[in-house]
Amino acid sequence: MSVSYFDHKRKDLIDILMKSGIRDERVLGAFNKVKREFYVVPEFKRLAYDNSALPISNNQTISQPFTVAFMTQLLNVKEGDKILEIGTGSGYQAAILCEMKAKVYSVERIEQLYEEAKKILHSQHYKVHLKCSDGTTGWEEHAPYDGIVVTAGSPDLPDSLVKQLATGGRLVIPIGDKNAQEIWQVIRVKDKDGSEYLDIYKHKNFKFVPLIGKEGW
Ligand code: SAM
Repeated sequence: MSVSYFDHKRKDLIDILMKSGIRDERVLGAFNKVKREFYVVPEFKRLAYDNSALPISNNQTISQPFTVAFMTQLLNVKEGDKILEIGTGSGYQAAILCEMKAKVYSVERIEQLYEEAKKILHSQHYKVHLKCSDGTTGWEEHAPYDGIVVTAGSPDLPDSLVKQLATGGRLVIPIGDKNAQEIWQVIRVKDKDGSEYLDIYKHKNFKFVPLIGKEGW
């Protein structure tokens, strides 16, 4: 498969994302730059730009491009934002965030995936702070975050992640049972009197691998 084959397929995917309602130019711009063919396993390379989730090692998945775009749009990333990702997986979502000029921190619980993502992100010249650990408790050392994106399905909102969200920050997380989840966009808002509360918007019909850990399944 030639480079131009993938370039062509990448453009087709962006058309599909636009037709599916992705409007954020910065998200679409990042999709135009990240080469998804490097983040999928060799057997699935030719399907790299299908709008579908694909298997990676350890029974995990690289998420469907629409889902990555939708969650990234909900994160409302601005240049220089500090973003925490829980569930590095293939490293693709982290690369998208880097292309949006965010400072990216990403946690993965499976060592093999952590090692593979480290290699690929480094080879593609993306600077991501990576950690292999249970991400349900976040990464306190670097908190607060302007955005937190969780790429595995949780039974509930992990308290630690809510606590590590900056004022005005957005937490995007799939919540539900193991068969289906809603994507929640949780925004930490500051009231006129200085008190803070959470605004929550929910989007139906998604399916993720489970978030396994102390504040997950
Ligand atoms: N963002 C990934 C990508 O772009 O390829 C998608 C990865 S996959 C849908 C979800 C990932 O979450 C898996 O790699 C899984 O091992 C990881 N995961 C599940 N529970 C976790 C936890 N408690 N902490 C960190 N990672 C976790």
